[in-house]
Order: sequence, then structure tokens, then C-alpha cells
Amino acid sequence: CGIVGFTGRENALPILIKGLYSLEYRGYDSAGIAAFTRDGLRVVKTQGRIASLEEKIQSEGGLSCTCGIGHTRWATHGEPSDRNSHPHLGGRDGQGKVAVVHNGIIENYKELRERLEAHGYTFCSETDTETVAHLVDYLHTGKQEDLAKTVLAAVQRIRGSYALGVVSMDNPEEIVAARRDNPLIIGLGQGENMIASDLTAIIGRTRDYIILDDNEVAIIRPDSVAVMNEFGDVVEKAVQTVTWDM
Ligand code: GLU
Repeated sequence: CGIVGFTGRENALPILIKGLYSLEYRGYDSAGIAAFTRDGLRVVKTQGRIASLEEKIQSEGGLSCTCGIGHTRWATHGEPSDRNSHPHLGGRDGQGKVAVVHNGIIENYKELRERLEAHGYTFCSETDTETVAHLVDYLHTGKQEDLAKTVLAAVQRIRGSYALGVVSMDNPEEIVAARRDNPLIIGLGQGENMIASDLTAIIGRTRDYIILDDNEVAIIRPDSVAVMNEFGDVVEKAVQTVTWDM
């Protein structure tokens, strides 16, 4: 279970793939990425290791993007398979507007799933994570609220542990991150920023980072990072610097 995300000006694909390789020790049931391309929000995912994901992306003609999220899975709910791989799309009728990667366990996923199904959502996987994707879409649809506020509202309905990376078609340069009882850091660059489960995934690009604390939600854009607490108030975060060499 490893998460990586990048938003900036360069091609994000090699950065995401490199980040996933450095996180592969955390889980290798499956791997996937969601990225904004000229054709919209695209998800490529597969059972197996990162190398299989790379092959699949190449066989589908490559992928050009400046913002995306990636995941290596250690399955807890639902067998290792293509459809249980992350990212998961949220949206009615398979029209995914929102993509989610998740580490951890959503304890009340059954109850959430039943309620979302009653609201017309169809599930494509057996994972606990897919409930988060549909819940974010449900809370987002038809509302003026930004994605971060929506993710905040979603995590308030979740019991369990999570590190989350969320992207939405409404903001193709933005990643929203949240965590509770699972690690997540934000790497700070020049005109680019990252999220990751640990430092190994960002160290090739920056040594400055912020540690997201429990119940916080962060908005990551190429030129800005903002963190808010569980009440939605902006909090100042200390910037840490890696002083060791890999
Ligand atoms: N519980 C989620 C799943 O089984 C996330 C697993 C993970 O942390 O990789 O898909």
C-alpha cells in the first residue's frame, strides 16, 4: 500500500512510475495510476507489479500528463485483481469524475456501500476503497463546494484508517490528500508538488516536505499547498528538510 501523486509542469508519468517503484516494497498485488490527459481523466491499472503497469501503459499508447496519482496495493478487501486495483472512479453509471487512491481500511464500508447503492451508484469492485470514490462524487455532485471541502465532508462519514489521494475532473491540476492513521507526506518543489506515503518517493525531486497529520486535508497544486484541519480552518505547517542521502 503506497501512494504517490504529482502536479507540476513536466510529464508526470515517469515521476509517478519512479515513485511507485520506490514504494513497491509496501505492496505489490496491483498497481495503477489516474492522470489528466488531453482526453480527460484516464485510469490505467493492473494486477501484478509496477513493470506490468508500465507495459500496459505502453501497450495503450503511453500517457502524457502533468498531474496524476498512483498506487501499489496490498489487498485487504477484495482479492488481488484488475478491477480491485486502485485508482477507483467515483460517479454514477461508470462516469467517473473523481478518482481515488487509498491506503488503509474503511471499517464502515458495507453500510456506506448499501446507502450509495440506494442512491444509484453501481460498484465495480469488492474493495472498501470504492465507497470513498462514490461518496466523494455523491457529496460533490451539484454542489458549489470545492473538492477539498467535499473530501473533508466525506472523511467525516468514514470510520477507519486512510491515506487518500483524490483528483477530480473539475480541477485537473489539483490533488486533494487526507490522512488518518496512515502516513502521508507532501513534497514541496518549484512549480511542482507531490504527495507520497514516504520520503523515498519524493527524494529524487525535492528534499523539502510537510507531514500531514491525522484528520487534516491538503490541497496540492503546482504552485501552492494548503492544509486545513478537521474544522476546515487553514493550518500553518512546518516545512521539514531531508538531511540524509539515499
Ligand atoms: N483496503 C484497500 C484495498 O484493499 C487498500 C489496501 C491498501 O492499503 O493497499 O483495496
